[in-house]
Amino acid sequence: MSTTYRAVEVARPGLLQLTQRPLKEPTAGQVRIRVEACGVCHSDSATVDGVLPGITFPRVPGHEVVGKIDAIGPGVSGWKIGQRVGVGFLGGHCGQCQSCRRGNFVNCTNQPISGAHFDGGYAEMMMAFPNGLVAIPDGLSSVNAAPLLCAGLTTFNALRRSSAKPGELVAILGIGGLGRLGIQFAAHMGFKVVAVARGAEKEQLAKKLGSHHYIDSNAGNPAAALKALGGATVILATSSDSKSMSAIMGGLATRGRMIVLGVGAEAIQVSPLQLLFSSVGIEGAFTGSPIDNEDTLGFSLLQGIKPMIETFPLEKAEEGYRKMMNNKARFRVVLTMGAPA
Ligand SMILES: [Zn+2]
Ligand SMILES: [Zn+2]
Repeated sequence: MSTTYRAVEVARPGLLQLTQRPLKEPTAGQVRIRVEACGVCHSDSATVDGVLPGITFPRVPGHEVVGKIDAIGPGVSGWKIGQRVGVGFLGGHCGQCQSCRRGNFVNCTNQPISGAHFDGGYAEMMMAFPNGLVAIPDGLSSVNAAPLLCAGLTTFNALRRSSAKPGELVAILGIGGLGRLGIQFAAHMGFKVVAVARGAEKEQLAKKLGSHHYIDSNAGNPAAALKALGGATVILATSSDSKSMSAIMGGLATRGRMIVLGVGAEAIQVSPLQLLFSSVGIEGAFTGSPIDNEDTLGFSLLQGIKPMIETFPLEKAEEGYRKMMNNKARFRVVLTMGAPA
């Protein structure tokens, strides 16, 4: 077995480079994973640009990781060598903070973020914490499971915890990595789905993914178009454009909710009158726990939901990352590691 492995690290903010690292044994409370696939997510930019508090360099990004456990450190139970596992955005809750003591592991205040506070999956090997691990079902390939661990979990969890009932109108704003999965989940959960994006060219894709209606937000007032369909119980805002969120709030049905998943730089604007008279609301949804992730994978397998992906070999990680950041990637970019080192 090789004593080194390849990794793509952020050497300093803005610089991604391929390196060779010495292979280490997992310490107490860690497992080592031989990575098979890693999705490239917009949030990886927090690592590449070094904007997340507590980040140090060099750092390997990547938090949509699937691979097989190949070594287990002392004190770890419940996981086996050879088992295929995933690691998502949240690296593993502490079990001791106020949130954890109330059973809210997602909002743990001491939780490391994968690929930011410890090295992630842009690599042939990574270390992970057992309480951040996700069991991967046999029926899902590693490249298809990877994007479900962040983009999938975020949209699946937000929709299933929303107030929308089967048959009610759910709008998916934005048809990117999150939106494409959001449309599929919403359709398979039994909602009446309307996809909202700029331009007419995304209509065909939206319908193919299961959307019943399509609104081109460039063609008119998207809020009025939503109202014409009866108003949305939920708007799942997956785009990173705050202006488009402000513009569509008025399309909510009475007591409807806009659930914000996309991170835009600007503030979202909403009139108090709108909030009062229609009793609508705006809220955020933040990823999910490892067991929520297993639910996401289970539902995806049950309903035949797959992300639309394009794969890049690890050594082309920077090309894949830039393509995603420049909005040039047609589908979710997934890194593959090639033959085992
Ligand atoms: Zn992500
Ligand atoms: Zn905690």
